[in-house]
Amino acid sequence: MITLFAFSAVAQQKYYRVQLLTNEKGLQRLSAAGVTIDHGDFIKGSSFTSDFSEAELSAIKQSGIQHKVLINDVSAYYVAHSNDAVTDKSEAAPVTCTTYAKPKNFKLGTMGGFYTYAEMLATLDSMAAKYPNLITVKQVVSSTLTTAQGRPLYYVKISDHPNVDESEPKILYTSLHHAREPESLTQLVFYMWYILENYKKSPYVKSLVDSTEMFFIPCLNPDGYIYNQTTNPNGGGLWRKNRRVNGDGTFGVDLNRNYGYKWGYDNVGSSNFTSSDTYRGPSPFSEPEIQMVRDFCNSHPFYFALNNHTYSNVLIYPWGYKANTYTPAPDSLIFKNDAIRLAQCNGYVTGTPNQTVGYIVNGSSDDWMYGEQTTKAKIFSLTPEAGTSADGFWPRKNRILPLAQINMDMNLTAAQFTKESVLAAVVATAANNDNMIEEKQPAITGLSNAPNPCNSYTYVSYQAGKSTGSNDLKLTVFNASGVVVKTIQLNALQTKVLVNTANLNAGIYYYSITDGQHKSNVAKLIVVK
Ligand SMILES: [Zn+2]
Repeated sequence: MITLFAFSAVAQQKYYRVQLLTNEKGLQRLSAAGVTIDHGDFIKGSSFTSDFSEAELSAIKQSGIQHKVLINDVSAYYVAHSNDAVTDKSEAAPVTCTTYAKPKNFKLGTMGGFYTYAEMLATLDSMAAKYPNLITVKQVVSSTLTTAQGRPLYYVKISDHPNVDESEPKILYTSLHHAREPESLTQLVFYMWYILENYKKSPYVKSLVDSTEMFFIPCLNPDGYIYNQTTNPNGGGLWRKNRRVNGDGTFGVDLNRNYGYKWGYDNVGSSNFTSSDTYRGPSPFSEPEIQMVRDFCNSHPFYFALNNHTYSNVLIYPWGYKANTYTPAPDSLIFKNDAIRLAQCNGYVTGTPNQTVGYIVNGSSDDWMYGEQTTKAKIFSLTPEAGTSADGFWPRKNRILPLAQINMDMNLTAAQFTKESVLAAVVATAANNDNMIEEKQPAITGLSNAPNPCNSYTYVSYQAGKSTGSNDLKLTVFNASGVVVKTIQLNALQTKVLVNTANLNAGIYYYSITDGQHKSNVAKLIVVK
């Protein structure tokens, strides 16, 4: 297998859009052969489509797995289609949630609409110059470490007293673990400008900024990002790893396989081939970028983290290292329920990597941020992957803004969860004591409510599957201490019920639906007065 990858030492590779016509078992076989199976278009049981390097295409051919090359030279394809109009209606932003107006300082970059590294740094400087009372000037993540090519990682903090270390709950937003995922950065820049510009106008934004500390590491892989910018100045560069010199003619470690929790657990969730795009590195935390993130997390007690990637339209959470394995209760419930709420407006599919995209991953940010509980407290760490299969890694220019907008509710809600961090733990315990069976496919699904937050009423939507005993279907609303405040009898043939909240005090409530045998997920309801 090593010889298969020998020729990938060539600095600039050609990439192909390939559809793999196989099920999860076939994907695992390819993954074990060093083929990158994480971001792409996954159709359970039948296919996976993404962009693959020349070496990966060789491994695919070698495997005998049925496949179709859809695009020859996908980097050139991205550049050629960068100015195309959006024709597919499914790409339109969902209409169910708030539309977030473009912040007046938000601009596109010059690399196919995305930021060059220098433009990203200049944007951070501009934010600090315009809003010195809300955001720090950019700071180095480590005063001693730099990347292999000598660059620091930078972070900024947004809060009401950004230059003071306050005891407010903390959240970490990162992007660009993978160098070829520029939308992960753009959507964060959009979010940052939005909260800075709306601090004085929106009581909701102000409450989040005032009562949390939001940390941002917008470019976690500067060497890889600059490499793409150098080889493909108009966008379309598909280098994913950092630029470590592996010493055998190959370059790079996959930074999202280098964290020290269950690092190298097996060769399916990461690769031991230096030339593979999922090469995990010679040892856990071998890469300075990941050492810096580790030390930063150890010295900042983050409650929540969103590690942004593209693409797949999924929101994933631990565990990644092993299929059908879940974090211990009640945290599994916090992940599950929080992810459902976070994805309520962008419609991302939620679950573990195995549940959502059919792959496993070891040495990832989320497994370490959550799983390492000795050197620091656990972090509720999730990975959003923005974008459809039509977007790919370099979405067309007129998709950059909509993709940023549909992540807004998720980014704000993550800050809200951070602000409410204590309550989430309380309710998870309450829900867990209610004999909820973990990770069993619920017969009652699709739980959501609108409007949310609500004032005097809200509509709760649900779907009761055929297996539900419809005689005793009921909705239970309980408060943050787990005390039932309302029950409503439901009809299994309907999918929506009006819930009167006029007599409830302002606050956070949770609700679920049971039929005597089954129980739905728990969803969150916010009442404002
Ligand atoms: Zn990624």
